[in-house]
Amino acid sequence: MKAMVLNRIWNLKENHTPLQMVELADPVPKAGEILIKVSTCGVCHTELDEIEGRTPPPRFPMVLGHQVVGRVEARGSDATQYRSGDRVGVGWIFSSCGDCEYCRKGEENLCEGFEATGRDAPGGYAEYMCVPERTAFGIPDTFSDAQAAPLLCAGAIGYRSLRLTDLTDGQRLGLTGFGASAHLVLKMVQHRYPRSQVFVFARSPRERDFAMELGAVWAGDTEAVPPVRLDSIIDTTPAWKPVVEALKNLKPAGRLVINAIRKEARDQEYLLKLDYPEHLWLEKEIKSVANVAIRDLKEFIALAAEIPIKPEVQEFELEAANQALMELKERKIRGAKVLNISS
Ligand SMILES: [Zn+2]
Ligand SMILES: [Zn+2]
Repeated sequence: MKAMVLNRIWNLKENHTPLQMVELADPVPKAGEILIKVSTCGVCHTELDEIEGRTPPPRFPMVLGHQVVGRVEARGSDATQYRSGDRVGVGWIFSSCGDCEYCRKGEENLCEGFEATGRDAPGGYAEYMCVPERTAFGIPDTFSDAQAAPLLCAGAIGYRSLRLTDLTDGQRLGLTGFGASAHLVLKMVQHRYPRSQVFVFARSPRERDFAMELGAVWAGDTEAVPPVRLDSIIDTTPAWKPVVEALKNLKPAGRLVINAIRKEARDQEYLLKLDYPEHLWLEKEIKSVANVAIRDLKEFIALAAEIPIKPEVQEFELEAANQALMELKERKIRGAKVLNISS
Protein backbone atom coordinates (compact mmCIF):
# COMPACT_ATOMS: atom_id res chain seq x y z
CA MET A 1 0.00 0.00 0.00
CA LYS A 2 0.95 3.65 -0.41
CA ALA A 3 1.72 5.54 2.80
CA MET A 4 3.19 8.90 3.81
CA VAL A 5 5.63 8.14 6.63
CA LEU A 6 7.70 10.09 9.15
CA ASN A 7 11.26 8.73 9.45
CA ARG A 8 12.63 11.08 12.12
CA ILE A 9 11.98 14.33 13.98
CA TRP A 10 12.33 17.47 11.85
CA ASN A 11 12.48 21.20 12.37
CA LEU A 12 9.77 22.45 10.01
CA LYS A 13 11.62 25.73 9.51
CA GLU A 14 14.42 23.74 7.85
CA ASN A 15 12.45 20.99 6.12
CA HIS A 16 9.07 21.60 4.52
CA THR A 17 8.66 17.99 3.35
CA PRO A 18 8.97 15.90 6.53
CA LEU A 19 6.87 12.99 5.26
CA GLN A 20 7.93 10.58 2.53
CA MET A 21 5.74 8.55 0.20
CA VAL A 22 6.66 4.88 0.48
CA GLU A 23 5.27 1.48 -0.44
CA LEU A 24 4.52 -0.67 2.66
CA ALA A 25 3.14 -4.19 3.05
CA ASP A 26 -0.65 -4.16 3.59
CA PRO A 27 -1.33 -4.51 7.34
CA VAL A 28 -3.03 -7.69 8.62
CA PRO A 29 -5.62 -7.43 11.43
CA LYS A 30 -4.73 -9.15 14.72
CA ALA A 31 -7.28 -10.72 17.06
CA GLY A 32 -10.00 -8.19 17.89
CA GLU A 33 -8.90 -5.82 15.13
CA ILE A 34 -10.42 -4.74 11.83
CA LEU A 35 -8.64 -3.78 8.63
CA ILE A 36 -9.91 -0.47 7.22
CA LYS A 37 -9.57 0.73 3.63
CA VAL A 38 -8.95 4.41 4.33
CA SER A 39 -11.09 6.87 2.46
CA THR A 40 -10.18 10.19 4.12
CA CYS A 41 -7.87 11.31 6.93
CA GLY A 42 -7.94 14.71 8.62
CA VAL A 43 -4.75 16.75 9.11
CA CYS A 44 -4.29 17.96 12.68
CA HIS A 45 -2.02 20.37 14.59
CA THR A 46 -0.93 17.36 16.69
CA GLU A 47 0.86 15.99 13.62
CA LEU A 48 3.08 19.11 13.79
CA ASP A 49 3.76 18.31 17.47
CA GLU A 50 4.78 14.78 16.47
CA ILE A 51 6.99 15.89 13.57
CA GLU A 52 8.73 18.59 15.63
CA GLY A 53 9.24 16.24 18.58
CA ARG A 54 6.90 17.71 21.19
CA THR A 55 5.03 14.39 21.30
CA PRO A 56 7.20 12.13 19.15
CA PRO A 57 6.34 8.62 17.93
CA PRO A 58 8.24 6.03 20.00
CA ARG A 59 9.55 4.39 16.80
CA PHE A 60 10.12 5.12 13.12
CA PRO A 61 8.99 5.01 10.42
CA MET A 62 5.49 5.97 11.57
CA VAL A 63 2.32 6.55 9.56
CA LEU A 64 0.66 9.65 11.10
CA GLY A 65 -3.03 10.56 11.05
CA HIS A 66 -5.75 10.14 13.67
CA GLN A 67 -8.97 11.35 12.03
CA VAL A 68 -9.62 8.40 9.80
CA VAL A 69 -12.74 7.45 7.86
CA GLY A 70 -12.93 4.30 5.80
CA ARG A 71 -14.65 1.01 5.19
CA VAL A 72 -14.11 -2.31 6.90
CA GLU A 73 -12.17 -4.55 4.52
CA ALA A 74 -11.40 -7.55 6.75
CA ARG A 75 -11.73 -8.72 10.35
CA GLY A 76 -9.24 -10.45 12.62
CA SER A 77 -10.30 -13.38 14.81
CA ASP A 78 -12.78 -12.39 17.57
CA ALA A 79 -13.75 -9.17 15.76
CA THR A 80 -17.52 -9.42 15.36
CA GLN A 81 -18.85 -5.88 15.78
CA TYR A 82 -18.60 -4.77 12.14
CA ARG A 83 -19.21 -6.32 8.74
CA SER A 84 -17.16 -5.95 5.63
CA GLY A 85 -18.08 -2.65 3.92
CA ASP A 86 -19.30 -0.88 7.10
CA ARG A 87 -18.19 2.74 7.30
CA VAL A 88 -16.19 3.49 10.44
CA GLY A 89 -14.13 6.29 11.91
CA VAL A 90 -11.03 6.20 14.12
CA GLY A 91 -9.89 9.05 16.39
CA TRP A 92 -6.87 9.70 18.63
CA ILE A 93 -7.58 6.72 20.91
CA PHE A 94 -6.14 3.56 19.37
CA SER A 95 -6.04 1.34 22.45
CA SER A 96 -5.63 1.21 26.22
CA CYS A 97 -4.94 -1.59 28.70
CA GLY A 98 -8.65 -2.13 29.41
CA ASP A 99 -8.03 -3.17 33.00
CA CYS A 100 -6.59 -0.32 35.11
CA GLU A 101 -8.55 1.96 37.47
CA TYR A 102 -9.00 4.53 34.66
CA CYS A 103 -10.04 2.07 31.95
CA ARG A 104 -12.59 0.50 34.29
CA LYS A 105 -14.18 3.96 34.80
CA GLY A 106 -14.30 4.71 31.06
CA GLU A 107 -11.34 7.09 31.34
CA GLU A 108 -9.11 5.21 28.90
CA ASN A 109 -7.62 8.59 27.99
CA LEU A 110 -5.72 8.58 31.32
CA CYS A 111 -4.51 4.95 31.10
CA GLU A 112 -0.75 4.48 31.40
CA GLY A 113 -0.99 2.13 28.42
CA PHE A 114 -2.89 4.65 26.27
CA GLU A 115 -1.83 4.32 22.65
CA ALA A 116 -2.55 7.08 20.15
CA THR A 117 -3.50 6.45 16.54
CA GLY A 118 -0.81 7.70 14.15
CA ARG A 119 1.80 8.08 16.93
CA ASP A 120 2.03 4.80 18.88
CA ALA A 121 0.36 2.74 16.11
CA PRO A 122 0.18 3.39 12.36
CA GLY A 123 -2.60 5.80 11.41
CA GLY A 124 -4.52 7.02 8.41
CA TYR A 125 -1.99 8.71 6.09
CA ALA A 126 -2.07 5.42 4.14
CA GLU A 127 -4.35 3.29 2.02
CA TYR A 128 -5.03 0.79 4.83
CA MET A 129 -4.82 0.62 8.61
CA CYS A 130 -5.75 -1.81 11.38
CA VAL A 131 -7.46 -0.82 14.63
CA PRO A 132 -9.03 -2.65 17.57
CA GLU A 133 -12.76 -2.79 16.81
CA ARG A 134 -13.65 -1.20 20.17
CA THR A 135 -11.95 2.04 19.12
CA ALA A 136 -13.66 2.16 15.70
CA PHE A 137 -16.97 4.01 15.54
CA GLY A 138 -19.85 3.77 13.07
CA ILE A 139 -20.34 6.98 11.07
CA PRO A 140 -23.95 8.17 10.53
CA ASP A 141 -25.11 8.78 6.94
CA THR A 142 -25.51 12.51 7.71
CA PHE A 143 -21.82 13.03 6.91
CA SER A 144 -19.69 12.57 3.81
CA ASP A 145 -16.33 10.86 4.37
CA ALA A 146 -14.55 14.23 4.20
CA GLN A 147 -16.98 15.94 6.60
CA ALA A 148 -16.71 13.13 9.14
CA ALA A 149 -12.89 13.13 9.36
CA PRO A 150 -12.33 16.46 11.21
CA LEU A 151 -15.08 15.61 13.69
CA LEU A 152 -13.04 12.67 14.95
CA CYS A 153 -10.36 14.85 16.56
CA ALA A 154 -11.25 18.53 16.77
CA GLY A 155 -14.87 17.62 17.48
CA ALA A 156 -14.33 14.80 19.95
CA ILE A 157 -11.62 16.66 21.89
CA GLY A 158 -13.73 19.82 21.82
CA TYR A 159 -16.57 17.76 23.26
CA ARG A 160 -14.32 16.45 26.04
CA SER A 161 -13.05 19.96 26.84
CA LEU A 162 -16.62 21.23 27.05
CA ARG A 163 -17.50 18.34 29.40
CA LEU A 164 -14.52 19.27 31.59
CA THR A 165 -15.75 22.87 32.02
CA ASP A 166 -18.81 21.52 33.92
CA LEU A 167 -20.82 24.27 32.23
CA THR A 168 -24.54 24.45 33.01
CA ASP A 169 -27.15 26.13 30.83
CA GLY A 170 -27.04 29.88 31.30
CA GLN A 171 -23.40 30.07 32.45
CA ARG A 172 -21.00 32.12 30.35
CA LEU A 173 -18.26 30.38 28.39
CA GLY A 174 -15.15 31.92 26.87
CA LEU A 175 -13.10 30.44 24.02
CA THR A 176 -9.53 31.65 23.57
CA GLY A 177 -8.33 30.74 20.10
CA PHE A 178 -10.94 30.14 17.44
CA GLY A 179 -9.75 27.29 15.22
CA ALA A 180 -11.48 24.08 14.21
CA SER A 181 -12.09 22.75 17.71
CA ALA A 182 -13.37 26.02 19.22
CA HIS A 183 -15.75 26.64 16.39
CA LEU A 184 -17.24 23.19 16.87
CA VAL A 185 -17.54 23.85 20.63
CA LEU A 186 -19.52 27.03 19.88
CA LYS A 187 -22.02 24.96 17.87
CA MET A 188 -22.28 22.35 20.64
CA VAL A 189 -22.93 25.05 23.28
CA GLN A 190 -25.68 26.64 21.18
CA HIS A 191 -27.41 23.27 20.92
CA ARG A 192 -26.89 21.89 24.41
CA TYR A 193 -26.82 25.11 26.52
CA PRO A 194 -29.09 27.48 24.57
CA ARG A 195 -29.15 30.11 27.38
CA SER A 196 -25.36 30.29 27.65
CA GLN A 197 -23.47 33.14 26.01
CA VAL A 198 -20.14 32.55 24.29
CA PHE A 199 -17.26 35.07 24.34
CA VAL A 200 -14.36 34.62 21.91
CA PHE A 201 -10.75 35.81 22.26
CA ALA A 202 -8.72 35.66 19.04
CA ARG A 203 -5.70 37.47 17.61
CA SER A 204 -7.02 37.60 14.09
CA PRO A 205 -9.85 40.05 13.23
CA ARG A 206 -11.04 37.52 10.64
CA GLU A 207 -11.48 34.85 13.32
CA ARG A 208 -13.29 37.37 15.55
CA ASP A 209 -15.70 38.28 12.73
CA PHE A 210 -16.27 34.61 12.04
CA ALA A 211 -17.07 33.99 15.73
CA MET A 212 -19.64 36.81 15.75
CA GLU A 213 -21.20 35.47 12.54
CA LEU A 214 -21.57 32.07 14.18
CA GLY A 215 -23.34 33.58 17.19
CA ALA A 216 -20.74 34.59 19.80
CA VAL A 217 -22.08 37.57 21.84
CA TRP A 218 -18.66 39.24 22.08
CA ALA A 219 -15.25 38.86 20.41
CA GLY A 220 -12.00 40.59 21.28
CA ASP A 221 -8.22 40.31 21.05
CA THR A 222 -6.32 37.84 23.25
CA GLU A 223 -5.74 40.41 26.03
CA ALA A 224 -9.12 42.18 25.77
CA VAL A 225 -11.46 42.33 28.76
CA PRO A 226 -15.10 41.42 28.10
CA PRO A 227 -17.91 43.37 29.85
CA VAL A 228 -18.62 40.48 32.26
CA ARG A 229 -16.53 37.78 33.93
CA LEU A 230 -16.89 34.23 32.70
CA ASP A 231 -17.69 30.90 34.39
CA SER A 232 -15.25 28.92 32.27
CA ILE A 233 -12.87 29.43 29.38
CA ILE A 234 -11.49 26.84 26.98
CA ASP A 235 -8.01 27.56 25.59
CA THR A 236 -7.19 25.92 22.24
CA THR A 237 -4.04 27.90 21.41
CA PRO A 238 -0.46 26.57 21.26
CA ALA A 239 0.80 29.58 23.30
CA TRP A 240 1.05 30.80 26.94
CA LYS A 241 -0.13 34.40 26.65
CA PRO A 242 -3.78 33.34 26.12
CA VAL A 243 -3.60 31.23 29.31
CA VAL A 244 -2.47 34.13 31.50
CA GLU A 245 -4.86 36.59 29.84
CA ALA A 246 -7.82 34.21 30.15
CA LEU A 247 -7.34 33.71 33.90
CA LYS A 248 -8.00 37.39 34.63
CA ASN A 249 -11.40 37.12 32.94
CA LEU A 250 -12.68 34.24 35.09
CA LYS A 251 -15.23 34.66 37.89
CA PRO A 252 -14.30 33.41 41.39
CA ALA A 253 -14.10 29.59 41.25
CA GLY A 254 -14.03 29.85 37.44
CA ARG A 255 -12.23 27.16 35.51
CA LEU A 256 -9.78 27.40 32.62
CA VAL A 257 -9.61 24.24 30.52
CA ILE A 258 -6.46 23.96 28.41
CA ASN A 259 -7.23 21.89 25.33
CA ALA A 260 -3.74 21.39 23.91
CA ILE A 261 -1.55 18.31 23.89
CA ARG A 262 1.62 20.42 24.18
CA LYS A 263 2.37 24.15 24.39
CA GLU A 264 5.08 25.65 22.20
CA ALA A 265 8.03 27.20 24.06
CA ARG A 266 8.31 30.46 22.12
CA ASP A 267 6.33 32.70 24.53
CA GLN A 268 6.94 30.77 27.74
CA GLU A 269 8.36 33.88 29.46
CA TYR A 270 4.83 35.33 29.39
CA LEU A 271 4.12 33.04 32.36
CA LEU A 272 6.22 35.40 34.50
CA LYS A 273 3.32 37.86 34.21
CA LEU A 274 1.20 35.46 36.21
CA ASP A 275 -0.03 37.50 39.16
CA TYR A 276 -1.46 35.37 41.96
CA PRO A 277 -4.22 37.77 43.17
CA GLU A 278 -5.32 38.74 39.67
CA HIS A 279 -5.06 35.42 37.90
CA LEU A 280 -5.42 32.58 40.41
CA TRP A 281 -6.77 33.69 43.78
CA LEU A 282 -10.47 33.24 44.61
CA GLU A 283 -10.32 29.53 43.87
CA LYS A 284 -9.80 29.71 40.14
CA GLU A 285 -8.86 26.39 38.58
CA ILE A 286 -6.78 25.24 35.63
CA LYS A 287 -7.47 21.84 34.10
CA SER A 288 -5.86 20.28 31.05
CA VAL A 289 -7.51 17.93 28.55
CA ALA A 290 -5.64 14.70 27.87
CA ASN A 291 -6.53 12.58 24.86
CA VAL A 292 -10.08 11.30 24.35
CA ALA A 293 -12.01 8.41 25.86
CA ILE A 294 -14.18 5.93 23.95
CA ARG A 295 -17.24 7.61 25.47
CA ASP A 296 -16.25 11.04 24.07
CA LEU A 297 -16.12 9.77 20.50
CA LYS A 298 -19.37 7.81 20.79
CA GLU A 299 -21.31 10.66 22.37
CA PHE A 300 -19.85 13.35 20.17
CA ILE A 301 -20.53 11.52 16.87
CA ALA A 302 -24.19 11.12 17.92
CA LEU A 303 -24.41 14.78 18.99
CA ALA A 304 -22.79 15.99 15.76
CA ALA A 305 -25.36 14.08 13.70
CA GLU A 306 -28.21 15.44 15.85
CA ILE A 307 -27.22 19.14 15.60
CA PRO A 308 -25.99 18.53 12.76
CA ILE A 309 -22.40 19.80 12.60
CA LYS A 310 -20.89 19.72 9.11
CA PRO A 311 -17.37 21.12 9.02
CA GLU A 312 -16.06 23.12 6.08
CA VAL A 313 -13.23 21.10 4.58
CA GLN A 314 -10.34 21.72 2.25
CA GLU A 315 -9.28 18.52 0.47
CA PHE A 316 -5.75 17.39 -0.51
CA GLU A 317 -4.40 14.27 -2.18
CA LEU A 318 -2.36 11.91 0.05
CA GLU A 319 0.77 12.94 -1.89
CA ALA A 320 0.15 16.56 -0.82
CA ALA A 321 0.18 15.80 2.92
CA ASN A 322 3.36 17.87 3.40
CA GLN A 323 1.72 20.88 1.77
CA ALA A 324 -1.36 20.52 3.99
CA LEU A 325 0.85 20.29 7.09
CA MET A 326 2.93 23.35 6.14
CA GLU A 327 -0.22 25.40 5.47
CA LEU A 328 -1.44 24.41 8.94
CA LYS A 329 1.92 25.42 10.41
CA GLU A 330 1.71 28.79 8.62
CA ARG A 331 -1.91 29.18 9.76
CA LYS A 332 -3.27 29.21 6.20
CA ILE A 333 -6.56 27.81 7.33
CA ARG A 334 -9.64 27.64 5.12
CA GLY A 335 -11.69 24.93 6.75
CA ALA A 336 -10.38 21.68 8.17
CA LYS A 337 -7.73 20.03 6.01
CA VAL A 338 -8.54 16.50 4.88
CA LEU A 339 -6.52 14.03 2.80
CA ASN A 340 -8.49 12.20 0.14
CA ILE A 341 -7.05 8.72 -0.01
CA SER A 342 -9.55 6.54 -1.87
CA SER A 343 -13.16 6.86 -2.92
ZN1 LIG B 1 -5.93 15.80 16.29
ZN1 LIG C 1 -5.86 1.16 31.39
